[in-house]
Amino acid sequence: NVSVVLFTADLRLHDHPPLRAANESREVVPLFVRDRAVMDAGFAVPNRLAFLADCLHDLDGGLRKRGGRLVVRSGDVVEEVCKVAAETDADEVHLAGDVSAYAHLRERRLRRALEAEGRRLHVHDTVTTAVTPGEVTPASSDHFAVFTPYFRQWSGVPLRDVLAAPRTVRVPEGVGSEELPSRAGISVVSEGLAAGGETEARSRMCAWLRGGIGAYEDRHDDLAGDATSRFSPHLHFGTLSPVELVQRARTVEGPGPEAFVRQLAWRDFHRQVLAARPGAATADYRTKRDRWRSEYAARADIEAWKTGRTGYPVVDAAMRQLRHEGWMHNRGRLLAASFLAKTLYVDWRVGARHFLDLLVDGDVANNQLNWQWMAGTGTDTRPNRVLNPVTQAKRYDPDGEYVRRWVPELASLEGPAIHEPWKLRGLDRAALDDYPDPIVELSEGLARFKQARGRD
Ligand code: FAD
Repeated sequence: NVSVVLFTADLRLHDHPPLRAANESREVVPLFVRDRAVMDAGFAVPNRLAFLADCLHDLDGGLRKRGGRLVVRSGDVVEEVCKVAAETDADEVHLAGDVSAYAHLRERRLRRALEAEGRRLHVHDTVTTAVTPGEVTPASSDHFAVFTPYFRQWSGVPLRDVLAAPRTVRVPEGVGSEELPSRAGISVVSEGLAAGGETEARSRMCAWLRGGIGAYEDRHDDLAGDATSRFSPHLHFGTLSPVELVQRARTVEGPGPEAFVRQLAWRDFHRQVLAARPGAATADYRTKRDRWRSEYAARADIEAWKTGRTGYPVVDAAMRQLRHEGWMHNRGRLLAASFLAKTLYVDWRVGARHFLDLLVDGDVANNQLNWQWMAGTGTDTRPNRVLNPVTQAKRYDPDGEYVRRWVPELASLEGPAIHEPWKLRGLDRAALDDYPDPIVELSEGLARFKQARGRD
């Protein structure tokens, strides 16, 4: 008896329900398909491809240690799975459930094609989320639109046990595989991109549970302190299990672990929104009937935002961190998004697209719905709040260290004065070496936004 395990956003061996189910007294084909539709849809950008290459190498290495190996194919995912199943005479295929419109379509197509050939598809929950989307719902709807009541119910759901990695994996002989992709073959990857793979993820997880998590509540907003877990790419590619992370964090006491688990619940929250409203990836979740500035008219502002030259140091620092690392601190993401959508009044989709071009953790649910949250078209209960980049910078980067790190033109400025370089006069201003003046007055941006939203 042979089972195929189709890996998608779950590139790990620990705590992997599909592999556990398939591996019981059977031969297994661990399969990854470089799905043409995903590659063509704009999600296959250099930073994520490079991280993915690391993940696949590590997964293959882990399988080889257990007597198996990873089989890689390219093409249409349904055709490739059917081919592999036919070649190995597999009677079942295991897959992790996922939430995007594409994941739903993939699941439906796979089920139809496999059943037509007399094979079964098993879709497993709680692989890519801690709590399955739809498992908790309010009385009057198929999903929660507000986080706090969701979190209350989410916290009460008993989680399944964490599964150990299999000791051995037996792969049938003679299954052909393509070569694994390699990071070296991918160009224009961000210089400071993190390393991928389950081995790296697990060593980070152990260090985090012993150390950083304790101070998370106090330090998660400290831009320069960089004191968050940086697990987001690992959660995106599934090299860490959300169930395992929640279970293990709950064994550590204190406000740090509690705050950390709450953030993991945010991840599940957005997934249950997207699962119920797949259209929210592109359409306003709650329309404010915005008439955003045209992309053409705002093109100079958009370019300044993308390249980190808005004249607002904290926004520019965040945008440069994004380009350099393929990752950005959450507080930076909030400030950069508020600035684009509210201060510049540019459509959130323009910003979300740019983030997806660079973010190693770029994720339809988290990116699009966080953008909508910040643009006020999503689930924020105060949709018209505007973050002031100067006040916020003074609060979350009080000494200016984050800005100094990413905006070298300002490195000679000391203390919080760095957040308002336009206030400098004379020679001090002249010494700033090519740092731009603000592209918009904050009061002007605010007035435009208030007037636009005032129509509602
Ligand atoms: P930690 O603070 O250590 O949090 C632990 C984990 O909790 C994260 O890895 C993440 O999985 C989850 N988490 C934390 N904050 C959020 C949140 N607000 N919403 C959902 N999950 C959260 N996250 C992505 O994973 N992919 C994205 O594409 C993405 N785009 C974003 C775009 C905008 C405009 C904003 C405001 C936020 C976005 N986020 C996204 C959420 C958040 O910024 C990142 O998950 C977080 O910064 C990752 O760093 P970390 O792993 O150190 O987080």
